[in-house]
Amino acid sequence: MALEEYGRKRRFPQTPEPPPKAAKSEQRRFVVQKHRASHLHYDFRLEMEGVLKSWAVPKGPSLDPADKRLAMMVEDHPVDYLLFEGIIPPGNYGAGTVMVWDTGTWEPLGQGPEMLSRGDLKFRLHGRKLKGEFVLAHMRSRRPGSKGTEWLLIKKKDDFAQPGFDPEELDRSVLTRRSLDQIAADEGSAEWGSSRPAAVRTKDAWLSESLAKVDRKRKTAEDAKDAVENKARQATAKAKASRQITDHRSPKTASKNSSVKKKTSAA
Ligand code: MN
Repeated sequence: MALEEYGRKRRFPQTPEPPPKAAKSEQRRFVVQKHRASHLHYDFRLEMEGVLKSWAVPKGPSLDPADKRLAMMVEDHPVDYLLFEGIIPPGNYGAGTVMVWDTGTWEPLGQGPEMLSRGDLKFRLHGRKLKGEFVLAHMRSRRPGSKGTEWLLIKKKDDFAQPGFDPEELDRSVLTRRSLDQIAADEGSAEWGSSRPAAVRTKDAWLSESLAKVDRKRKTAEDAKDAVENKARQATAKAKASRQITDHRSPKTASKNSSVKKKTSAA
């Protein structure tokens, strides 16, 4: 079974993580968890064939196509892990704090399982923070001792690309709006599910709907602040892109450049 390794590594119920139960679900959701264990890293998970295919990304995902982020493939996780946020107690596997950093849906740009086994998984994300096309490319390392678990997560160039993107600047849960330090300090986090509203725990609820409900309840100044910051970042990225286009001007890109400028001034 796909979740055997997941179950073998953990002791239930000492850990608040969900048990190794395979789901029949054929939805395509994804989650990125920010995980402060022995080392800070991000866990990137795609729902596929009833489990979450998972990679640990030490530097976190990036919207900058220039970044090639090392992604170590790890054991499949149960689909219930999509909503796991909280504290894994000391002495347990992966002990530390977990934040739901981003979530949403994904679209395979081809046959998902086939692209995965070929080591060339192309997909589009519809998340809160991560949007647009990405590729996960398996590195065929000839280095002795390599376990063959090394992949690269790379953003493709599209309208959602953001040069200079830094995931650390967006330290807030899309589920509860808490920072990683706030989750770590929140004693309620230690119990699986205890700090989350009932709506989010409804098993069959479409995740986005659940998140929308949470969001409506928590429509705070923080949301507005995030929006302003994000807009500023996008404007900077567009201005940068516009400068780059000017540097390599051709008749075609020159006209594109003027439309980019128009958009920037309107923002
Ligand atoms: Mn992890």
